[in-house]
Amino acid sequence: MSFADLGLSDDLLRAVTDAGYTEPTPIQRQAIPSVLMGKDLIGIAQTGTGKTAAFVLPMIDVLGEGRTRALMPRSLILEPTRELAAQVAENFEKYGVNHKLSMALLIGGVQMGDQVKALEKGVDVLIATPGRLMDLYGRGKILLTGCSLLVIDEADRMLDMGFIPDIEEICTKLPKVRQTLLFSATMPPPIKKLADRFLTDPKTIEVARPASTNTNITQRIVQVSATAHVKRDVLRRLLQQDEVSTAIIFCNRKTTVRDLNKSLKKHGFRSAEIHGDMDQSARIAELDRFKNGDVNILVASDVAARGIDVKGVSHVFNFDAPWHPDDYVHRIGRTGRGGATGTAYTLVTPEDAENIAEIEKLTGHKIERVPSPVATDDAEDAPAPKRTRGGKREAKKPEPRREDVAAETPAKPKSRRAAPAREEAAPAPAPREEQRSRPVRDERPARDDRRRRRDQDDGPDDGWNGPIPDFLNYTIDA
Ligand code: AMP
Repeated sequence: MSFADLGLSDDLLRAVTDAGYTEPTPIQRQAIPSVLMGKDLIGIAQTGTGKTAAFVLPMIDVLGEGRTRALMPRSLILEPTRELAAQVAENFEKYGVNHKLSMALLIGGVQMGDQVKALEKGVDVLIATPGRLMDLYGRGKILLTGCSLLVIDEADRMLDMGFIPDIEEICTKLPKVRQTLLFSATMPPPIKKLADRFLTDPKTIEVARPASTNTNITQRIVQVSATAHVKRDVLRRLLQQDEVSTAIIFCNRKTTVRDLNKSLKKHGFRSAEIHGDMDQSARIAELDRFKNGDVNILVASDVAARGIDVKGVSHVFNFDAPWHPDDYVHRIGRTGRGGATGTAYTLVTPEDAENIAEIEKLTGHKIERVPSPVATDDAEDAPAPKRTRGGKREAKKPEPRREDVAAETPAKPKSRRAAPAREEAAPAPAPREEQRSRPVRDERPARDDRRRRRDQDDGPDDGWNGPIPDFLNYTIDA
């Protein structure tokens, strides 16, 4: 089946061809005709399946007819993080080149002046994170009564981040007669309930998880002790393998991201970092350095890295085994994209056994265990490879580096339910009413331990408002 068979306009087909797509992905094949027919839709799919184009493409044609009205967006796309929101905006720009649709992006972290002006003039597509949208709505800057098409993207991630009450509230502000599309990688009961309440006779489409079925990704586990310096030593040895050209390294905590990046740089690696504590311009700058090839290693936290679409990442390293199996699927999916091959290493401490079992249950795949490249857990911290003038690394010589040892944060909690003491000790979030104008991380009370962990460690990314970033224009070709 080709894109031409899906009922899209010629203008759109040209844009799709220009994007280099030859045939629709399974979710696009199933979703596009339904969306064009005005049906509600539940898409059980995650990033990497082509799901963004599955709703953006038909939306462009649907919105191509009709007129914009001041203060009243005609469609609304809700995204859990600013990165995903920016990525969807970029998709609209790419696929909408032959249409004259106006768009606004409401996300935290950047000035909101231009976006408020755009809204006042009227926009066809409003892409927003729930917190920021409710903020502006509360101040009377938006009317949602003209919004007849709603997309709730990454609904399970919204649940993790505590956004479901906001989404329910937003749904009640929209006209009753509307088209609603909901995308989620999984359908936990609260999402099912949300869909039952706000969607009408939806068509449900389910496509395979790309990572769990992606045989292009070689997955490996390296058993390590929980000692931070041993983990860093093992990681460095793995990074020094010849075939590692570009790598994203995931850590569970922002502090670990920072410390690890510092340590890698000290050892002569060309690395950058991205995590939820950084302001948006710093995140974009770091991403740009990675995408431009100025650095070949990006140390990242889950929230900050979600949705990042960089082609040609040869390796993913889980410096910390993820707490949630979905995060594993998401993380390793940063490699092996677009038909390329990739390798994912996970450093696993004895305490991670339960998480690994959950991952293997979810993916239905037993991950290969490979020997640690470091002989014993007593190994000294590896020597820093010498830098040549051009920044290239040389073979290393033994040189104990004790200073790294103290820099690392404690190991992860034993299970998802047992949050680390450091995080439990954090002050309780303030009541919602007080929180609207406060920084994003403190924005909402946690609803369960896992969410508390997430909010306090890498809070919801919903506070950026401003020009559409162009960082997603860069790709590293495989
Ligand atoms: P998504 O699942 O929306 O995050 O998309 C994952 C990647 O697939 C993005 O880089 C898209 O540009 C790309 N993509 C989307 N649709 C197609 C298609 N039909 N053919 C090839 N690549 C696609």
